Amino acid sequence: METEPKKKRTYTVEQLENRRRWREQNREKISAKKKQEYAADPEKFKVISAANRAKRTPEQSAAHAAYIKRYHEENKEAVKAAKRKYHEAHRAELRKKAAKWFEKNPEKRRDFTRRRRAEQSGSGSEAKKTIVKWEKKWRSAKLVRCYWCEGSFKPDDCHLDHVHSRPACKKLNLVWHCISNVCVSCAPCNLKKNSSGLDDWNKKLGSPTLL
Ligand SMILES: [Zn+2]
Repeated sequence: METEPKKKRTYTVEQLENRRRWREQNREKISAKKKQEYAADPEKFKVISAANRAKRTPEQSAAHAAYIKRYHEENKEAVKAAKRKYHEAHRAELRKKAAKWFEKNPEKRRDFTRRRRAEQSGSGSEAKKTIVKWEKKWRSAKLVRCYWCEGSFKPDDCHLDHVHSRPACKKLNLVWHCISNVCVSCAPCNLKKNSSGLDDWNKKLGSPTLL
C-alpha cells in the first residue's frame, strides 16, 4: 500500500457536486487563470505535471491515455482547430525547431519531403495543377535547395527534375509526372544525372537518396 498523504481531505458528494458545478460555470475564468499562472512560470508546471504523471498507477496511466484518445476522437474538429491555431501562433519557433531537427537528421529531410508530397499527390489534371503550383512557389523563392546535392541555388539556375526516369516509372509502375516524382535540381546535378542511371547517380551523391 502507498503511504497516506499527510492531509487528505474528504469531501461529501454534495461538496464534490458543488465544486464540479462551480468549475463548469467558471470554465473561462479558471482557464484564464491557469494560463496566466503557466505563463508566469512554465517550468514549475512542467515539474508538477511530471510529478503527477509519475504518481499514476499503470491502470491510471492507461485510463488517462484512453481518455485522451477518446477526447481526440470525439472532438476531432476542435482538436484540429486548436492545433492549427497553435501552429499559426508559434509558426516561427516551430519552423526553427524543425530546421534544427533536420540539421541533426539530414538523411531524413529528403525522405520527409518526398513522403509529404506523395501524400498530396493525386492523378490527372489535379496532379498537374499541384506540380504547377509547387513550381511557381519555388521559382519565386530567393534560394532553393537542390534535391540531389542539397546545395542552395537561385531558382533560375535550377530545373524541374524527375526523380525516376520515364522508363523507370514504367517498370516500377509509378506515375512519372506527379508531385512525388518531381524535384528541384541544380543545373550541374541535372546534367550529371541524365548521363547516368539513378542507381549509378545515387552512388555519386554525397548522401544518397532513400529510394
Ligand atoms: Zn545539385
